[in-house]
Amino acid sequence: MHLTLPKTIHEFFSAAAAPYSYNPLRNIYIWFGLLWGIPIPLVTIVFELHYLLGSLDSSTFGTALEIIFGSPVQWFFIAHPVLFALVFGILGTIRHEKENELMVKIHQLEELTSHDTLTGLKNRRYFVNIFYEECARSYRRGESLTLLFLDIDHFKQINDTHGHHFGDVVLSELGRYLLKRCRPYDTPVRWGGEEFLILLRATGEKSAMLFAERIRAGVEAGFSSKISIAMTLSIGLAEHEVNDTLETLTDHADRALYHAKQNGRNRVVSWSALHQDSTEEDS
Ligand code: GH3
Ligand code: MG
Ligand code: MG
Repeated sequence: MHLTLPKTIHEFFSAAAAPYSYNPLRNIYIWFGLLWGIPIPLVTIVFELHYLLGSLDSSTFGTALEIIFGSPVQWFFIAHPVLFALVFGILGTIRHEKENELMVKIHQLEELTSHDTLTGLKNRRYFVNIFYEECARSYRRGESLTLLFLDIDHFKQINDTHGHHFGDVVLSELGRYLLKRCRPYDTPVRWGGEEFLILLRATGEKSAMLFAERIRAGVEAGFSSKISIAMTLSIGLAEHEVNDTLETLTDHADRALYHAKQNGRNRVVSWSALHQDSTEEDS
């Protein structure tokens, strides 16, 4: 950020008007200024005493002090610790305000980089960042963790028939709906396009199937007053297993989703059910 001189002066005077500049209990810079200023009157008084006692034969210690404290110049030096405390206090306020501004900006940036602007849900980057933390947490607590992969059915047709803007409204309303249906500690995410993920903490496959089925049925029945058309979604899900990575778990849920699409859409399929099917076919 480029600071011009008028802006710097304005910043200084507005900080001078802030009570924080004069609050020694909160603004440690006031104490820095005071300590920085204290040697100035001490050194000047000692030098002047030394000079007066050495050069004026008639001077006693008392009269020397009288001369020193009678001089306006010396009072200028005596006032220095207070002046320094004031200036440092103002600089402390400027720094304090800049730090607050920075914290707000960092928070805004974190929100921007971890959220999807259209739906308001967390985005793919956020999910990738927290995935292994969530796995470790579930492992520590001996809890299950299940991933849902949701995909709107025939979304391209919705866009083509009702327009891209309406498609955006569908996505953002679905985002709100998913957020409303999730518990505070679940993670609903816009994975990309018309695809969403939900990571369900402390949830095994059975409960996740029930949850997914409620979402599927809710969408089919109509989930928002802004969406007057009939629409459905398909869901694939997979429970996290010990050696699963982000790639393998999303791949399992995605394959289950693919199966749901292949079998007529508007349904929930689990990765383990697929597994069983293929094992039964093999035997
Ligand atoms: P399926 O049932 O097999 O999932 O078919 P589909 O039409 O939903 O899937 P497809 O992958 O063919 O089309 C997805 C469409 O989603 C294509 C793309 O234009 C649209 N899309 C992706 N992102 C957005 C978005 O942010 N807004 C809107 N309006 N459309 C989007
Ligand atoms: Mg898709
Ligand atoms: Mg789709």
